Amino acid sequence: MDLKNHIRGIADFPKPGILFYDISPLLAHAEAWKEAVDQLAEALRPHKPELLVGIESRGFLIAAPLALALGTGFIMVRKHGKLPGDKVAHSYDLEYGTDTIEVQADAVKPGQRVVVLDDLLATGGTMAAAISLLRRVGADVRAAAFLVELTFLNGRDKLDVPSVSLMSYD
Ligand code: AMP
Repeated sequence: MDLKNHIRGIADFPKPGILFYDISPLLAHAEAWKEAVDQLAEALRPHKPELLVGIESRGFLIAAPLALALGTGFIMVRKHGKLPGDKVAHSYDLEYGTDTIEVQADAVKPGQRVVVLDDLLATGGTMAAAISLLRRVGADVRAAAFLVELTFLNGRDKLDVPSVSLMSYD
């Protein structure tokens, strides 16, 4: 099954010149979505995660079913102001301005092996920030994983952990 048949490119979203890779058709197709989750589960099993981390918001969609498939827990990295209780925050630079992500302070046990999930790897800035944040709460980050990778942006060069992606575009 070619999973790429279930990814839709939408031109000029969210701004002119950007080709947006929409994963909605993949999520909506029962067999293709199961295949994607199964393939990622096989690719990530050797990294022996104890916890999967989803990056808001499409990372949640992937990390939650994968955690069930791999028998791990699941935690959330969210944008500023969304999580209750004690949190640790990390700010990072965007093309224009900065952004802040947060995780609950007790979400990870010291030394726990985690794998971090997002839908798509572009420049790598989002994933690099999530990895920095998770290390600050004691995580042993073993890998980063994505459904889609835009290889021409060289995002994996920003990451100091192995990257796994199911589909790539160049
Ligand atoms: P980056 O930090 O540049 O690697 O961007 C990755 C984040 O932005 C992910 O959370 C993606 O969901 C989103 N993103 C960036 N570029 C695209 C794109 N062309 N299509 C869909 N999502 C994108």
